[in-house]
Amino acid sequence: NRLGHDDDTCIFYDASFTARLQKEQDLSALFLPSLENEDFKIYLQPKVRLADGRVMGAEALVRWDHPLKGMIYPSDFIPLFEKNGSICQLDSYIFTKVCSVLERWIKEGREIFPISVNLSRQNFKKPGILEDFAGIAGQHHVPTGLIELELTESVFFEDQDIENIKGQIKEMHRLGFLCSLDDFGSGFSSLGLLKEFDVDTIKLDRRFFLDISQKKAKDVVSCLLELSGKLKVHTVAEGIETSEQLDFLRSINCELVQGYIFSRPLPVSDFEAWADSQ
Ligand code: C2E
Ligand code: MG
Ligand code: MG
Ligand code: MG
Repeated sequence: NRLGHDDDTCIFYDASFTARLQKEQDLSALFLPSLENEDFKIYLQPKVRLADGRVMGAEALVRWDHPLKGMIYPSDFIPLFEKNGSICQLDSYIFTKVCSVLERWIKEGREIFPISVNLSRQNFKKPGILEDFAGIAGQHHVPTGLIELELTESVFFEDQDIENIKGQIKEMHRLGFLCSLDDFGSGFSSLGLLKEFDVDTIKLDRRFFLDISQKKAKDVVSCLLELSGKLKVHTVAEGIETSEQLDFLRSINCELVQGYIFSRPLPVSDFEAWADSQ
């Protein structure tokens, strides 16, 4: 009398599973003390206009500079913080830090361009979050038009509530924020997103450019650029590292580029020095 297939299922616990769980618990416990201790740092990476090499914006990327554990990168804690809910506090912290940087730049009379902040899906869905952000910007005397909120493509896919997302994007614009669609093309992106959602910028995922020596890859990117031109949205090519990629993007008049070829994400003071030297 054989049991059904499902009853045969068993789960293997192995050492790596337990180790990962332990590591997650460790990092979770370190979050609040680290937030208090200002161990989370923003790094800035420029978005450069290809036509004239001018810096048109920067993206804020978080780094966890832990006194004992050393430097921890987003891929090692963002997914965890999305799971345990800490991401909301972290994003608000990063947003506030970005406002302080912009406030100082304005005071010092530096050349100003928008800084973008990554907003996780959970945060994006939180009622009142955009009003709160606008309030924080106001406290720092920073116009919301200097802040861009980056939403990753997956925000739109894991959520069926299209009207709700549309409402949030409308709210973003009502409050004056810029809005960009991050990692476009990294997953099951659909061109329908571009029709449905009113974003200011799309960021083409770095995967598009990995095999850019092939004609097919080139054709896909040029078509996407043509499309974004027609839709009057700005385009940023992400993760550009080589001169071959850059030459191609020049040849098709890609507007903005972000990648190691110009600069890695840098601590704020290093970024300022880099920008001054440009
Ligand atoms: P993202 O928003 O798509 O950011 C771009 C990522 O590509 C960054 O990784 C950046 O360092 C990396 N990158 C930039 N240029 C190049 C290049 O030329 N080559 C390669 N290979 N990589 C390049 P990072 O800083 O490790 O961040 C990873 C992801 O973590 C981000 O992807 C974003 O989704 C998330 N993240 C980072 N900071 C925050 C944050 O403050 N809040 C939230 N919610 N998510 C964040
Ligand atoms: Mg981003
Ligand atoms: Mg991206
Ligand atoms: Mg990415």
